[in-house]
Order: sequence, then structure tokens, then C-alpha cells
Amino acid sequence: MPNYILPDFEVERRDDRCIRCRVCERQCANEVHSYDEENDVMLADELKCVGCHRCVALCPTRALKIVKYSGTFRENANWSNQSILEIYKQAESGGVLLSSMGTPNPCPVYFDKILINASQVTNPSIDPLREPMETRVFLGKRPQNIERDETGKLNNNLPPQLELSVPIMFSAMSYGSISYNAHESLARAATELGIYYNTGEGGLHEDFYKYGPNTIVQVASGRFGVHKGYLDVAAAIEIKMGQGAKPGIGGHLPGEKITEDVSRARMIPVGTDAISPAPHHDIYSIEDLRQLVYSLKEATEYKKPVIVKVAAVHNIAAIASGIARSGADIIAIDGFRGGTGAAPTRIRDNVGIPIELALASVDKRLRDEGIRGNVSLVVAGSIRNSADVVKAIALGADACYIGTAALIALGCHLCRTCHLGKCNWGIATQRPDLVKRLNPEIGYKRLVNLVTAWQHEIKELLGGMGINSIEALRGNRLMLRGVGLNEKELEILGIKHAGE
Ligand code: SF4
Ligand code: SF4
Repeated sequence: MPNYILPDFEVERRDDRCIRCRVCERQCANEVHSYDEENDVMLADELKCVGCHRCVALCPTRALKIVKYSGTFRENANWSNQSILEIYKQAESGGVLLSSMGTPNPCPVYFDKILINASQVTNPSIDPLREPMETRVFLGKRPQNIERDETGKLNNNLPPQLELSVPIMFSAMSYGSISYNAHESLARAATELGIYYNTGEGGLHEDFYKYGPNTIVQVASGRFGVHKGYLDVAAAIEIKMGQGAKPGIGGHLPGEKITEDVSRARMIPVGTDAISPAPHHDIYSIEDLRQLVYSLKEATEYKKPVIVKVAAVHNIAAIASGIARSGADIIAIDGFRGGTGAAPTRIRDNVGIPIELALASVDKRLRDEGIRGNVSLVVAGSIRNSADVVKAIALGADACYIGTAALIALGCHLCRTCHLGKCNWGIATQRPDLVKRLNPEIGYKRLVNLVTAWQHEIKELLGGMGINSIEALRGNRLMLRGVGLNEKELEILGIKHAGE
């Protein structure tokens, strides 16, 4: 039987540099490299290469280069190489194609078509090095009116809130989909930064209970790892209704990733696939959602904000309006370009809408209905840099979740094969020999550096606009202009075209 599948990559090895140290062979969990003793030559099985660049980074003589495979099918404008290869794969396996991380397809990134304002002459800019600049935000319900008690004293009995030093949090990534060391890095960084990380739907390892004040715990449709102690230890509880990378379907963690430790945190047997159902089987309406929101509040004595996370889909504004009335304190909206540990490729690449449009329409709808203060909005789905954060806030967000950016800071090379469980960088794996490649001591410092760098940049951007707080930027769309967008896109985003 011929091999129909072509490699994605070619391994170029400079023989004049290769010293046969076999580091590449030891470092590659995909078993690409091998040594032919008889001929004293290093070989490569390129079909196994996922382009993670671990061997390139560790080769002591810089002998290696991984390049895109140059072989191609006969040119065809309708059938791309990718489409043909996918059909070969499915003809062989009979299964659903799986992928990880966000879609690589060239879908519109509206953040790149939005530009930020700066003060000139009449409205002076602010120098963040010399003047105070507030990046702190609070997430949760805001009081609609100023209330006083019978003696005239201000009633400051606010609903529970999350306080963030900067409007950035680490998004939900479960222990199981990512490693112990990756989770520890996120938990320690969140604690040091005064922000929050999110357990995802995998429960919480007992070692991480000490990071509870900076932990958001998730309650997903599978209810993995959910118990009273788990809810009690957290700063906030997130009900996961959907995820941007795979709206409308549940989660799937393959049995190979369910090790002893992961099984304890998830409360499921070792080695069994963890498949969470597509819907919550007790939620078929906003009233049902309200029951779960209040059950969780009741269970934690109304001391913790409840977040409802949904994927950005066509009627997101109406959905958000319902959630805002369900008693939830925060709505998290995850956009079409968001990442994942594993998702069916067709779903990841074809379902959902971009976060920018979803955010703008939700913020407008909640304002129009006079309920914007009922909830905070957190957005996710490919927030790549501090300018994306600033643009999201000006479009109406209170804060952003970052997932892929955080993993890249930990060393991820975006090879998009997390679902195979053989991450060579120690992030999306449970194999002990691979997990130890990520040193949490270094990992957490890199995350702290990333968020600190973004905080500096956010202050610079705010100062340039003549604004001295995130609060004053929130929903301030006058600070944004579009380039190359049509009338409808500008209308939904609620911004003017550049030059207007
Ligand atoms: S790591 Fe570099 S030098 Fe060592 S065997 Fe591989 S290609 Fe050769
Ligand atoms: S986490 Fe690991 S497997 Fe996943 S994309 Fe990044 S480098 Fe690849």
C-alpha cells in the first residue's frame, strides 16, 4: 500500500556541522531522528516531524534547520495541498480530524484594522513615567445607584468582586491538557502579578490549593473535579458553557493523558477518556442557568463572583443579555480564533465569530438595555499583545484572558499538536520525562515578565491618548478608528473610519 501522506516539514542537517551527539534523537518525543551506527550518519523520518523546533533549539552546533516541505501536488486553485492531505488522512482513519491551538486559517483579525488615537496639542498626553497611571480593575456587578442607609451613610455593601492589578488574566487551561509544571507556572505568576489563572475543566491539584486567592475554578458540563472544597478555595467560579475554539461541543481529553495525579484532580479513573458532554444536561434555558449560578453562590455563601463563559456565536448579544439577567457577575466571551488542547479541525476552523465583533455587539446591547453595570465583560480568543488589550477595552471589555500568548511565553512553538500529548517543550503533556523540561521557576518568571511588559505598554498607550486609567478607556470607542473596513463592520464595531 503506498503512503499517500506527505510530510509537512523537511529536516535539513548540515553534515559538516553535525558531531553525532544525538541530542536531537534524545530530545524528540516524536522519534524523528535516529542514528545509523554502521554508516555513522544521522537519519530523519520527516513524516513524524511536527515542526516544534525542539531539536533546532538544542542542537549544539546549529546543524539543523526544519523547513516547510517543498514537494507539492499538481497546482489546483480549488483543491489545496491541505484539502487533499486531509482526505487521504480520513480515507485512512475513518475518523474526525483533530487539531490543537487556534485556527491557522487566514480569518479576519479586526484588531489589525483598528488604530488607536493619540493626543496632539489641545488635549495633552500624559507621561506614565512621571504621572500616576491606574491599570487596576475590578470585575463584578456594579451598583446602579448610590445607596445610603437611614443615617445617611454610604452603603458600600458591594457584591463580591475580583481585583486585578492589570486587566489581564490567564485563561482556562486544564491540568491534564497542560502539565503540572505549566499549571504551577501560571498559578505562581498570577499570584505574584495580582491577577488570576483559571483551572479549566480539570479540577485542581491539591498542591495548588495554596494559590486559591488567585484561582478561578471552572464548573463545566462534565463536572470533573467539582466538590465543595474546590469551590471554597477559589476566588471566583466560572461556569463553562462554551469555548471559542469549539463552540457547541464538549471537551475531550484522551485516556493517555489521565495519569494518576490527573485522575485524582478530575475524580475519574486512570486511563479513561475524559469526555464532557456538549450541553450541561441541567441547562436548557436562562432560568436553568440562573439556578446553577445561584446554587454555586449559595454553596459559597455569596462570597464569590460567578463567571459564565460562552463562545462567540451569531446571536451572542441576545445570549449575553440573558446571562446578564441570570445573576452572573461576569461574562467571559471566547472568540473564534481562541486556542484549545484538542478540537475537531472542522469545528475549530468553521464555527463561531471573531471576538472583536462579538464584544462590540454585546457591549452595545447591554448598554442599550441599561444592564451593562450588571456584569463585567472579559474577552478571550487570540489576544496577542498589549495593543489588542487596549483595543478590546476601548470596544467595551473590562479585562482580557490570555491563553496562547501565555503558553508561548512558556516556550510553546505553536506546532499545534497538543492533542498528541507529546509536547517537546513540557507544556501540553503528562509524560514525566517531558514535563520536567519546563522549569516552573523559570516559567513563572517569564509569565511575570510578559504581563509586566504589557502593563508598561498599556500605560504608554493610555498616556498617549491623554487617559490615566483603564476605567476611563472602557467602552471609549472614540479612541478607535477603522482602516479598510466596510460600513457594516464599522457599524457593528461602533467606530468611525480613519480620517473621520
Ligand atoms: S543535535 Fe545537532 S549535532 Fe547533535 S546529532 Fe542532532 S543534528 Fe547532529
Ligand atoms: S503546547 Fe507544545 S504541543 Fe502544544 S502547540 Fe505548543 S509546543 Fe506544540
